[in-house]
Parts: sequence; C-alpha cells; structure tokens
Amino acid sequence: MPLAIGTSRDRDFIPSFGEYIIISKEYWDAAPDAGREDTLFHELGHCILNRVHTTKLLPMWDGTYRPASLMYPTDFPGIIYLEYRKEYIDELFENAPFYIKHRLMENGPIKATK
Ligand SMILES: [Zn+2]
Repeated sequence: MPLAIGTSRDRDFIPSFGEYIIISKEYWDAAPDAGREDTLFHELGHCILNRVHTTKLLPMWDGTYRPASLMYPTDFPGIIYLEYRKEYIDELFENAPFYIKHRLMENGPIKATK
C-alpha cells in the first residue's frame, strides 16, 4: 500500500505516491499550526497533484534564500511559510490538472482560518 509520511525532519522517508497520508502522532502533537498545514499541503501535493520534490531556492530581501515550493524535500521554518503562504499555495497549484483547478474555482480560494 503506498504511503505518504509526514514528520518534521524526514517527512518523506517512505515514497509518497498514493492515496494515503500517515503522519506521526509525535510530529503532529509537537508541530505548530503552520507546520501541520505546510506538511499536509506537501503530502497532498504528492498524492493529489502528483508533484515531486524540488530543491529550487528563491532569494529573500535579506540576501538569504528560501525554498521556492512547498515540495522542498525537507522541512523549513514556519515563519518563512507564513510570510510567503500565498505564493507557496499559488505555486503548488499553478500546474494542477484542469479538473482540480475547476473544483477550486467552484469552491473559492483557500482561506486562512486565523
Ligand atoms: Zn515529499
């Protein structure tokens, strides 16, 4: 049975191509909301959007770099995710199959709950 594993540091040690996402309780209980959200988007990117990992980086205002995608293979700081949340979600779906984009248009944009 294909599995997708979400943990904070090694969320992909089992290849995640399939219908299931299994996240360790230890990770989930310890993760902040932003970490839970970006991990779920990452794993759903594998399962629903057939996305693979990318290590592409983008420069930030301070001369450092950030992952260009939620499909970055390792965890990154939640503060970066939250600062660029819209860009990350847009990037995740920009090449999504039409039927998924159509469903998103029907249901409206993804909204933050806080
Ligand atoms: Zn992954």
